Amino acid sequence: MTLTGKHLIGNRESSESSETFSAANPALGTTLEPRYHEATESEIDAAVSLATSAFDPFRRRLAEARADFLDAIANEVLALGDELLDRASAETGHPLPRCASERDRVVLHTRQFAELVREGSWVDARIDLPDPTRRPLPKPDVRSLMQPVGPIAIFGASNFPIAISVLGADTMSAFAAGCPVVIKAHPGHPGTCELAARAVLRAAAATRMPEGVFSLLHGKSHAVGTALVRHPGLAAAAFTGSLAGGRALFQIANARPIPIPLYAEMGSVNPVFMLPGALKARSASIADSFVTALTTGVGQFCTNPGLVLGLESEEWSDFSEKARKNVASWSPATMLHAGIHGAYESGIAALLQRESVELLGRSAREADPAKCEAAAYLFRTTQQGLLGDPTLFEELFGPVSTLVGCGSPEDMIAIAETLDGSLSATIHGAETDLADYAGLVEVLQRKAGRLIFNGYPVGIEVCHSMHHGGPYPATTHSHFTSIGTRAIRRFIRPVCYQDWPDAMLPIELQNANPRGVWRMLNGQKTRDGVVG
Ligand code: NAP
Repeated sequence: MTLTGKHLIGNRESSESSETFSAANPALGTTLEPRYHEATESEIDAAVSLATSAFDPFRRRLAEARADFLDAIANEVLALGDELLDRASAETGHPLPRCASERDRVVLHTRQFAELVREGSWVDARIDLPDPTRRPLPKPDVRSLMQPVGPIAIFGASNFPIAISVLGADTMSAFAAGCPVVIKAHPGHPGTCELAARAVLRAAAATRMPEGVFSLLHGKSHAVGTALVRHPGLAAAAFTGSLAGGRALFQIANARPIPIPLYAEMGSVNPVFMLPGALKARSASIADSFVTALTTGVGQFCTNPGLVLGLESEEWSDFSEKARKNVASWSPATMLHAGIHGAYESGIAALLQRESVELLGRSAREADPAKCEAAAYLFRTTQQGLLGDPTLFEELFGPVSTLVGCGSPEDMIAIAETLDGSLSATIHGAETDLADYAGLVEVLQRKAGRLIFNGYPVGIEVCHSMHHGGPYPATTHSHFTSIGTRAIRRFIRPVCYQDWPDAMLPIELQNANPRGVWRMLNGQKTRDGVVG
C-alpha cells in the first residue's frame, strides 16, 4: 500500500499544512518516506466534529453490528500481512517476531471486545421493580445501565507501535462501548499508524459504520495533542506514554471550561522483592530470569523491573554477582528512537554522577550511538541511599535497574511504604515467605495495580481479569485498566430511567430481556425476564 502522509478525517484525506516531519529507522539512522503533515486547528476540528456527528448513529447500532465491526478490524489487520510488520520494525527497531506478537495481541484483544459486546452483560443492567403500596411513599420503577460517553481522543505510546497505538485496547474498548475515536498518531511510527488506520476505515466501510467513527491525525508538535484535548466535542481521552506527557495532557483536560477525564497510563518502577526463601532455593536462576526480564525489548516496557530489593545475605550477594555477570554479557541493542535513546543516555550519565548509588555492572560491549543502541546497567544502593535520593524512585525508560540491599524485613517494609504508586509489584519467595512477610504484602496491595508471585511484570496477559493500572503516578485514575476487557469502563457512564415505558427503554432494560443478558433484578443476578 502506498503511504500518503495525510490525515484520515473520516473517509477524507487531508494535508492542509506545509509543515511536515518524517519517521526514521533508528537502527540505520535513515529517513523513511513519506513526509507526514502537522494537523491544523481546522483539521482537528473537522475530525472531532465528524466524530460528534457519528456518535448517535454509532451508539444506536445493534450490539451485534458493533461486534461485527470489531471482528472486521481484526480481519483487516491480518490482511495487512507483512507490510504492517515491516513498517513497524523499520520505524521502531523492534525485530519482526516482536512485531508479529504485537499483531497477535491486537487480534486477540479486538476479538475479545467483540465477544464482550455480543455477550452484553458489560452494560451492568439493574432493575428495581416498583411497589405502589409502599408507605409512606410508593416505590418507583428504577432501572439503569451503562452508556457510551461520546467521542474519545487516543494517544498511543512509542514502544508498542501495533499493540498500544492505533489498534490498541484503548481504541477497541471505545468502539465496544459505542464511542467514536480520534487518534493522535505517534510521531515515532506514523507509517504504522497510517497502515493500521486504513485497516480500521476499511472495516468501518465494510460494516457500514457512520463516517467519523474513526479519524487519524498526525503531529510532531505538542500543539496538535493540546488542541485535540481542548476540543469541546470530546468526552474523554486516553493516553499511554511518559509521566511528563500524561501529566501535561491531564492538566489541559482538567483546565477546560468543561473538564473531561484523561486516562493516562504512564511508567513506573515496578519493584521486585526477593525474599529469603526464593534466594536460598534458586538465587542463580532468579538472577537469570531477572536479567532476561530487564533486557527484553531493550528494557522499553512500562513494567520494567526498575528496583530490586533483598535482605543483605550471602544469597543476596550471590544473586547480585550473577545478575552483574548476565548484564555484562548482554549485548547493547537499538532503542525506539533518538529521543528515547537520548533520554536514556542522559539518565544513565546522571546516575553515574550520584553518590546515592554505585555502578555494579554494565554491558561489556560498548553501545553504538549511531544505531541508537543502549547498554544495560545495574546499580546498587542501600536503604539509606535509596531513601535519601527521591530520583531513584523514578522510572528511567530502558534496560537499567537498581539493587537495594536491606538490613531487615522491617527495613524492606519501610522502603515499600515510601514507594510511589506502581503498575506492578513482584515478590519472589517460598509460600511460607508470604505468611512471614504479610506486612509487606499489605503495603504492596496499596501501592500497585498487579501483584506477581515468582514471575515478572513484563508480558501482560490479555484477558478479562487483567488489571493494568495503579495509583498515581502509574496512572491518573487508579480505578481503571487500559488492558483487558474492563478497559471499557473508562468510556461508559450510568444512565438511570425512572418509571419509563417498557417499549421505550434500552433493550437490555426491557422486561422481556430480549438479549438475555445478565441483570441485577431487585438485587439478584439473573437472566430471567420480568413479568410486566
Ligand atoms: P511520550 O513521549 O509521553 O509520548 C506519548 C504520546 O504523547 C506521543 O504522541 C507524544 O507526542 C504525546 N505527548 C507527549 N508529551 C506531550 C505533551 N506535553 N503535550 C501533548 N502531547 C504530548 O511517551 P513515549 O516516549 O512514546 O513512551 C514511553 C513511555 O510510555 C514510558 O514512560 C513508558 O513507561 C510509558 N508506557 C506506559 C505504558 C502503560 O501502559 N502504562 C505502556 C507503554 C509505555 P510527541 O512524541 O510529539 O511528544
